[in-house]
Amino acid sequence: MSGAPAAFLDRDGVLIEDCGYPHKPEHLVLIPGAAEAVRRLKSLGYLTVIVTNQSGVARGLFTEDQMHDFNALLIAQLAQDGGVIDAVYAAPYHADAVIERYRHPDHPDRKPNPGMLLRAIEEHGIDPSKSLMIGDQPTDVEAARRAGVAGHLFKGDNLDAFVQSLTAG
Ligand SMILES: [Mg+2]
Repeated sequence: MSGAPAAFLDRDGVLIEDCGYPHKPEHLVLIPGAAEAVRRLKSLGYLTVIVTNQSGVARGLFTEDQMHDFNALLIAQLAQDGGVIDAVYAAPYHADAVIERYRHPDHPDRKPNPGMLLRAIEEHGIDPSKSLMIGDQPTDVEAARRAGVAGHLFKGDNLDAFVQSLTAG
């Protein structure tokens, strides 16, 4: 069986600056090279999938609807510069949630657990062995590892230069 390659992308600290629970339009600041990186990954044949922990929902800082609106705004902004996102998975859970329905001691979707990646692999016919994950936290790399995906830690600067270094040759 041959599945598609996917690039799993963390959101905060990878595609946008992490200002601490970004959720308002004014919080949306793209990382340098973000749209170009997504465009490059698409042109190399990768499905582009955002996988993001959003415990701000559990913490009552913003609603799930606000989160979806913010993600839609991000997708539109990336697309404006030619970076097409194929799917978004978000985990609104946290062990210390103030909102009970999002309270979970160790939700399978919350990275470092691989739930979002495994679901994307299933739903989009992705081959994890041909895929990669870019995150700015060790928990991103760990979630990738548990899903059988090669994880890479992005330490800032230009995302497109980072993607270029990962996919060269
Ligand atoms: Mg992050």
